[in-house]
Amino acid sequence: MFIKTRVLNPYEKYILEVNGRIKMDTLDQTHCFTIDKGYTGEKYFYEKIKECSGGIKIWDFRLKMNGEAQYDFIIIHDQHIIHFDIKYYEGNYHFHQSNFISENNYVITDPINQLVKADMKLNQFVQKLGLSYKVLSYVVFVGQQFSVSGFNGDNRILFDKDIDRIVASLNKNETSDEETRIGQLFLQYHYDKGIYQRIHYYPFEEIQEGIKCPSCNQLLPKLSHRKTHVTCSCGYKITKKDLVKNAFEVIQLLKNAAVTVDDVVRYTGIGKTLIREVLSENFEKTGMNKNRKYHPKEKLFIKEVSENEYEVDMVINDS
Ligand SMILES: [Zn+2]
Repeated sequence: MFIKTRVLNPYEKYILEVNGRIKMDTLDQTHCFTIDKGYTGEKYFYEKIKECSGGIKIWDFRLKMNGEAQYDFIIIHDQHIIHFDIKYYEGNYHFHQSNFISENNYVITDPINQLVKADMKLNQFVQKLGLSYKVLSYVVFVGQQFSVSGFNGDNRILFDKDIDRIVASLNKNETSDEETRIGQLFLQYHYDKGIYQRIHYYPFEEIQEGIKCPSCNQLLPKLSHRKTHVTCSCGYKITKKDLVKNAFEVIQLLKNAAVTVDDVVRYTGIGKTLIREVLSENFEKTGMNKNRKYHPKEKLFIKEVSENEYEVDMVINDS
């Protein structure tokens, strides 16, 4: 069971949404490449293991303990705390002096070294919690389009073909109450105040309009009036009403301002009457007639927490 999944931060959300709609600056392009690869790989792994009966699972755990450490997946299972670091790459790589190097000389720097550091910190944390669980850490190269030559193997590095084995092992037993308690304990120390890139908003009028299909990420077709659903070429289907709600979220993110009926028309091709109806039902409106704009109903509640509350050392006694 997953007790936490990854929540994209505002920069990650924006950059993935604007990707493909406008030419981004170099810095955003670089970040987008990393975020997209990271998220795609993790989502792939999440989909593979989410139905497993055993293991209390956490997707994206960040620890602040003598500096920050981030863990893609933590699974509490059968007297073990298992950490999976997910890497998603495509193409042919060769192994050279602890690094994986692609045909175009893209370098994946010493994944074992990074894993060992993260593993040491996780071990310290588990000890501080007073748990007698054994910590295991693995790098998993997910995706079937990845191949590597010259690598003699290391039991800490797994590949796509090994995922079935992970699933089988997690399916061996059900989760226990103790595992659930440990999982909840981990979540108490999840540090969710990481620093992220400031958003550089591209001009909303210049951004290519449309709503991306959540399944294949292509822009959904603008629909004809008679249809009640929009269907993507990949087979994904969504009702007009849900599409309006999605469009609201997307437009708000890209525009960073209140949403108008005309915006939604432009992004979906849906008629004004239905849009007005759905927006009024689900969102707060301000202004009259032509100046009418829509906002989210609940203002985001940002909890004020002092930095120290997250410092593990402040909460657990050194002994
Ligand atoms: Zn699609």
